[in-house]
Amino acid sequence: MKYEELLPHQIEEMLEQAPVAYIPWGALEWHGRHLVIGNDAIKAAAICERVADRTGGVVLPPVYFGNRTMKRKGFRHTLEIREATVRAMAYDLLRGLESEGFKVVVILTGHYGSRHLAALKGVGEKFGKGKEIRVWTLAEYEVVTDLGYTGDHAAKWETSILMHLRPDLVDMEQLSADPDEPLEGVHGDDPRKHASPEVGREIVEAIVERMAKRVKELMNNEQ
Ligand SMILES: [Zn+2]
Repeated sequence: MKYEELLPHQIEEMLEQAPVAYIPWGALEWHGRHLVIGNDAIKAAAICERVADRTGGVVLPPVYFGNRTMKRKGFRHTLEIREATVRAMAYDLLRGLESEGFKVVVILTGHYGSRHLAALKGVGEKFGKGKEIRVWTLAEYEVVTDLGYTGDHAAKWETSILMHLRPDLVDMEQLSADPDEPLEGVHGDDPRKHASPEVGREIVEAIVERMAKRVKELMNNEQ
C-alpha cells in the first residue's frame, strides 16, 4: 500500500500487523534513447509494491534523485544530487519511520552506481546498529545474481524489466536497427538482441519472491 494514499487508521492497522516500510530509490538519469529518464525509481517502486503485497507494510513515494549518475559522462536530461544530500535524505527518512514505529525498513535502490549504493548502505548500517529497527539496503539484482543479473545500465536486464513492468515507457524504435551502431549510454548485453518482457517477468518474479522471504525473516527477527 502506498503510504501517501493511506488514512491514519490504515497506517495504524499496518503498524500493528506488519510494521515494514519500503523506500524505493532511483535517479533521473539517461537510460539510452529507449528507456524513460525515471527508470530506476519506477522499477524500484513497482518491485517494492509487489513485495509489500506479499509481506504487508507500506511503500513510500519513490525518491527520484541519486548521485554519481551518467551526468558526469556528459549525458543530458540527468538531474543529479550530491552524495551528502542522498545520505541526509536517507537518514531523515529512517529517523522518521523509526519514530512512527516501523520495525523493518527496506531501501531498494534501482540506481546502483557503486558510490550511490555505498552511500545508502552506509547510512542504513549505521542507523540500524544496536537498535531494534532492522534496515536492509539493497540493489534489486543482489538477490538474483545466481540467475545472471548482476546489474547493467539500460541493457538486456533493465530494458527487460521495464518492458515487463511498464511497456508504455519503453520505445525500442528509438534505437538504431543497425546492430553495428553503438548505443548511447547503454552498458551490458545489447537490449536489441537480448531484451524481452518475458526475461523481465521472470527476473522480477524471482526478485519479489526472494525479497519477500527475507523481509519475513527480518520481521520475525531472524538473522
Ligand atoms: Zn538504471
